[in-house]
Amino acid sequence: MNLSIVIPLLNEEESLKELHDWIVGVMQAKGYTYEILFIDDGSSDGSWDMISELAAENTSVKGIRFQRNFGKSQALHAGFKAAQGDVIITMDADLQDNPEEIPELYRMIKDEGYDLVSGWKKKRFDSVIFKNIPSKLFNWAARQTSGVRLNDFNCGLKAYRKNVVKTIEVSGEMHRYIPVLAKSAGFSNIGEKVVRHQARKYGKTKFGMERFINGFLDLITIWFVSKFGKQPMHLFGALGVLMFIIGFGFALYLGIDKLFIHPTGRLITDRPQFFIALTAMIIGTQLFLAGFLGEILIRSKKDKAHYTIEKTLND
Ligand code: UDP
Ligand code: MG
Repeated sequence: MNLSIVIPLLNEEESLKELHDWIVGVMQAKGYTYEILFIDDGSSDGSWDMISELAAENTSVKGIRFQRNFGKSQALHAGFKAAQGDVIITMDADLQDNPEEIPELYRMIKDEGYDLVSGWKKKRFDSVIFKNIPSKLFNWAARQTSGVRLNDFNCGLKAYRKNVVKTIEVSGEMHRYIPVLAKSAGFSNIGEKVVRHQARKYGKTKFGMERFINGFLDLITIWFVSKFGKQPMHLFGALGVLMFIIGFGFALYLGIDKLFIHPTGRLITDRPQFFIALTAMIIGTQLFLAGFLGEILIRSKKDKAHYTIEKTLND
């Protein structure tokens, strides 16, 4: 199979038929063998019914329905695991991404040796204040922290060589950083292509103001992961141990001072420095425990899916 088109969606019933017909038109014109994977990320509208209808008339349409909303990253992850094509395309379901870009993306992977080609919405049709300006800042920060030189990290339209999607694990809210994950997995041939971008035709964006907070947290995570390797929690644990040792050393010094050098006054109530040492020990212990907790979480969550699938179609 040439292509798997992975489409994560949440409440996009109005767009799905139009999007399906548009994609199928492009696939037939080019003679590609393909599958369209709709991942319904817990929609509460008629999206799943629409996907069922499309799957009934076109066996190349496959559906995965999540038990509830797990987020775009998890939907992409589920699509990546199910995809069978040589090249995997991801795109949004809201008709903002143009299926006519697919053949060129496919060619860049097949003939130019790219592992990943990311779309670049050079001309956007979104709100300037809420999207364009924040996204410029965000992309700049993402470039600085990750070392991946993309102009547009957040574009839903991307193409991947099969190995890439089978290797990487898209955890948490990391969909904006899939190129960074790919790069750290050793897929360094990452390209970017300017793509056409349309205004949202139906409904409205599924990401509100929380996107800034999530984006910021993701950014810190990326920075940590690229700086401290796969186990950023080691840093907190180590800081905690260091702080404890300093506090302990200081307390020990005060104790020895009281016992042998200046035996006047009481150890605790007459030596305020003792409280500083004690505080350092307590904070050190807490930091160490936080790091330890992080380690446990990282280890126990490994290789576990972060979503539950309710049902599938044509799989
Ligand atoms: N989406 C999803 N799960 C979510 C939120 C969004 O699968 O929890 C899908 C959404 O239906 C769309 C794509 O992710 O297909 C991009 O979302 P949206 O268009 O709202 O983002 P924007 O274009 O505003 O960045
Ligand atoms: Mg959109």
